[in-house]
Amino acid sequence: MFDLPSFDAHEGVHAFHDEATGLRAIIAIHSTALGPAAGGCRMWDYADSQLMMRDALRLSQGMSFKNAMADLPLGGGKAVIWGNSKTDKTPDLFRAFGRAIESLQGKYWTAEDVGLSPKDLAYSREETRYVAGLDEGQAASGDPSPVTAEGVYRGIRAAVNVVFGSDDLDGRTVAVQGVGHVGADVVRKLCAAGAEVMIADIAEQELRALSDETGAKIVPTDEILFQNVDVVSPNALGGIINEVSIGKLNCQIVAGGANNQLYAPDMGDALHQRGILYAPDYVINGGGIINVAAEISGNYDRSWVDAKLDRLGETLKEVFDRSKQSDIATNRIADDMARSRIAAAKG
Ligand code: NAD
Repeated sequence: MFDLPSFDAHEGVHAFHDEATGLRAIIAIHSTALGPAAGGCRMWDYADSQLMMRDALRLSQGMSFKNAMADLPLGGGKAVIWGNSKTDKTPDLFRAFGRAIESLQGKYWTAEDVGLSPKDLAYSREETRYVAGLDEGQAASGDPSPVTAEGVYRGIRAAVNVVFGSDDLDGRTVAVQGVGHVGADVVRKLCAAGAEVMIADIAEQELRALSDETGAKIVPTDEILFQNVDVVSPNALGGIINEVSIGKLNCQIVAGGANNQLYAPDMGDALHQRGILYAPDYVINGGGIINVAAEISGNYDRSWVDAKLDRLGETLKEVFDRSKQSDIATNRIADDMARSRIAAAKG
């Protein structure tokens, strides 16, 4: 484990097993320099425990960077539960997971990620208070997606401003991949601002409904990324900027909410060399964790969330500026900024 590239000086990696419920979970804590580690829990049917470990480490490091760039008093961590989220969930499994979190005495806060719902987390909450992203309760912040979408929308405007000298979206063309919780809201905002929007999703019913609502034009899923547009906005899958897709992009900006858009960091260099401005995913999509952080603080305050969103916008602009000045890819600049913020907090 210590030799894995994704280990990256993790503070702690905790493996949990509960015989009665069959829980097998890893909680990876990358850094608590900025505050308690926070990051969602993913339930996935991994092929083996090595893959599970790698996922936990990679995601946990990602949360450290995301929280640092969102200027939150939070470190980075992530939990993964090994199992099929469709068939293996039980209330007791999530209570056992809650006890695992409790044993870390507040070093790690969990929330929802792939495979989990607020209902599952409510069982964990019976055993520990270090759970956020709940639907009910004193500070419950509910679905973070609208805040993520607002951050993505603002980020698109900031990128448009850099490339076209004005953040006016009237007549700008945007291709949006994925119109789920985040993507649909981004589309609504773009259309309201006068952009010409193309959309694609494998969920045809939702896609058609959104097209009827907003006037966005439906495009086949395998063509959406390659439209001749000002902006491509990925809001579905990871790894979509890869060796195969990169040469076919026909846009000036890539800016969307999906996590892990670059198949590997060198894809960011390739975008930079092609003159395509990339908004680093973990910066532009930080709105959701900001919302969760407001819940963790114990006193959900929408004006605090808005102030942090403004700050996130400034940080994204700083990434763009530094990239331009140094001729270094935006993802490399963001990684450097995140690492320096964490190092500064370590003192
Ligand atoms: P979601 O599941 O609601 O939406 C994803 C959408 O992508 C779905 O409508 C799905 O049908 C579609 N999709 C899947 N495969 C596709 C394909 N091949 N082509 C086109 N569309 C496809 O998820 P979400 O909450 O909207 O999150 C979207 C992305 O943003 C994810 O990568 C997620 O990790 C990231 N993200 C979300 C949040 C948040 O607050 N929800 C925060 C940060 C990052």
